[in-house]
Amino acid sequence: MTIIVSHPHREKTDWWIKQLQALLPNWTIRPIDDPGDADAVTYAVVWKPATGAFLPFPNLKAIVSLGAGIDHVLADVELPRRVPIIRTVGTDLTQRMREYVALHVLRHHRDMPTITANQRERHWQQLVVPPATGRTVGIMGLGNLGGSAALTLAALGFETLGWSRTKREIEGVTTYAGDAGFDGFISNCEILVCLLPLTEATAGILDAELFARLPRGASVINAGRGQHLVEADLVAALDDGQLSHATLDVFHVEPLPSEHPFWSHPRITVTPHIASLIDAPTGSRIVAANIERFEQTGHVDDLADATRGY
Ligand code: NDP
Repeated sequence: MTIIVSHPHREKTDWWIKQLQALLPNWTIRPIDDPGDADAVTYAVVWKPATGAFLPFPNLKAIVSLGAGIDHVLADVELPRRVPIIRTVGTDLTQRMREYVALHVLRHHRDMPTITANQRERHWQQLVVPPATGRTVGIMGLGNLGGSAALTLAALGFETLGWSRTKREIEGVTTYAGDAGFDGFISNCEILVCLLPLTEATAGILDAELFARLPRGASVINAGRGQHLVEADLVAALDDGQLSHATLDVFHVEPLPSEHPFWSHPRITVTPHIASLIDAPTGSRIVAANIERFEQTGHVDDLADATRGY
């Protein structure tokens, strides 16, 4: 009964081992590069595992992703497809994402980037914006995070639209689904929030074609994954005024390299993948509880569907 832990940063691997060992005293918990008897390994707790990382462990019962997304696990071309993947989600994660989305939607809605730039110029300009009830915000992805954020935006008074793969019902939110619903959704979003998982279908979805379908002057917030965005298309849409501003929390390469033009673009706000980080003590309790439940019942609520990609 061994659990292996893999994280790109060694100190974080050690931290997770310590936390999980305290919560699961009957288990042996070891780093992936020093697993002991490989046949005894039945669970892997991972963030961004290396390609082929799971091949030495024939008896894996489940892989636990240290996050809501599983794209970092599915990126392993040698992943044993028979092994279920458990996501780590919880109320802390949704609460934090609600805060991030509310913060940045309100910031775009009230045109804070212009007000901040005006302050630097000592320029007094009273911008008049409509109330939230006169502003339409759209969320791509209505799962744990997007669905919860949509409720928050609707409670703030925004005209809130949501788009998902299959039709969702959310009180106070006008919902659309699939390709058929996309045009009705996208053509009205003055502020667009991406909270999709990264899959084959969603990679590169934030591109020139999508930006052209938004109302002129729209803003975009991407807190899904960096690979949702075609970076050059974003810069072109900002430069020609089709988009007025973008807030980006996730990037193709993280940390965002210091020479990357996004850092200094006047109409891009960069946040360092902090929209909703897993709170470490809460996260370890969720991981431990999921492993125990899966061991006892063979099921947990947070099972991802690898064939769907999320
Ligand atoms: P869920 O799996 O709960 O929800 C995903 C949503 O996206 C569902 O509504 C799903 O539709 C929809 N969706 C998936 N594929 C498509 C598609 N092709 N077209 C339209 N809609 C689609 O995910 P979470 O809400 O938990 O997380 C979403 C993502 O947020 C994660 O995968 C991760 O990448 C990112 N994330 C970012 C964080 C950050 O700090 N920036 C923190 C945590 C996660 P349906 O409802 O029909 O299934």
